[in-house]
Amino acid sequence: MSTSFVLGLVGEGISASLTPAMQEREGHEHGLALSYRIIDAEQRGFGADDLPDLLDWAERLGFDGLNVTHPFKQAVLPLMDDLSDDAADLGAVNTVVFRDGRRLGRNTDWSGYAAAFRTALPDAVHERALVVGAGGAGVAVGYGLLDQGAEHVAVLDSDPERAEACAIRLAKRYGDDRVTPVTDLARALDDARGVVNATPVGMHGHPGSSVPETLVRPDLWVSDVVYFPLDTELVRTARALGCRVVPGGGMAVHQAVGAFELFTGRAADAARMSRHFAEL
Ligand code: NAD
Repeated sequence: MSTSFVLGLVGEGISASLTPAMQEREGHEHGLALSYRIIDAEQRGFGADDLPDLLDWAERLGFDGLNVTHPFKQAVLPLMDDLSDDAADLGAVNTVVFRDGRRLGRNTDWSGYAAAFRTALPDAVHERALVVGAGGAGVAVGYGLLDQGAEHVAVLDSDPERAEACAIRLAKRYGDDRVTPVTDLARALDDARGVVNATPVGMHGHPGSSVPETLVRPDLWVSDVVYFPLDTELVRTARALGCRVVPGGGMAVHQAVGAFELFTGRAADAARMSRHFAEL
């Protein structure tokens, strides 16, 4: 079993990512020589058209794997030799493992969200949920919730066509009766036990909340995928009302846990990675 790994993160505007520190520390804890590099498209001046060359070069230079993030998760998919069923369902790859001359395309976003959710709120995994935001994160969150048994997921997006497309993708895997695209936020919240913000609203540079404060009620659980900052406006509002919350840091940690295991073949210590993430 190898004890030395060269890994990287490919995306745009990722210079502040905490993933390298998380992966390298966990590697160190396992006694591995694990080095994890940022490969920022903005800084290095490449785009989606360059991905075939980038993957070729990464393999030739001895990389063992790459994480892939915005805006390349979809564009990298056709460049894989082997795609997991979940990555195919989601139409997105966030983890590429180079093994025996083959590129394995995997997705740990949805499994990372699911793990973060059931760690925080194990008794709520079957409850009806509303996902606000139907982009890459929204599809992954919906997939994670449905996979671990949510009775029903409603999907809302400011672009109704995106909500529709997301619901169709999820329904293909989990059935029409468990997923519905919706347009009325207040009504959808009435019918849900919890809500997830899967839009960029609440991030640094995108202030505000996709769920108005007046619609948040104490008996809802509230989750966010945004983790810059960790405590978004939505999370702060929910905490103040006494709601149970699942902030975005959990997904960030657990997608890294899944990727670490795929890259190294070793079981990551999720609690240790969470503690380290909190220190960063
Ligand atoms: P995206 O652009 O693909 O999708 C965002 C969607 O939200 C779009 O469809 C847009 O129309 C919709 N939207 C925007 N504002 C809205 C509003 N007020 N109400 C309803 N819908 C609205 O983006 P994405 O890749 O899905 O990422 C979304 C967020 O998730 C980003 O902030 C990203 O950083 C975060 N994210 C976090 C993790 C994690 O590990 N925690 C993982 C992936 C993505």
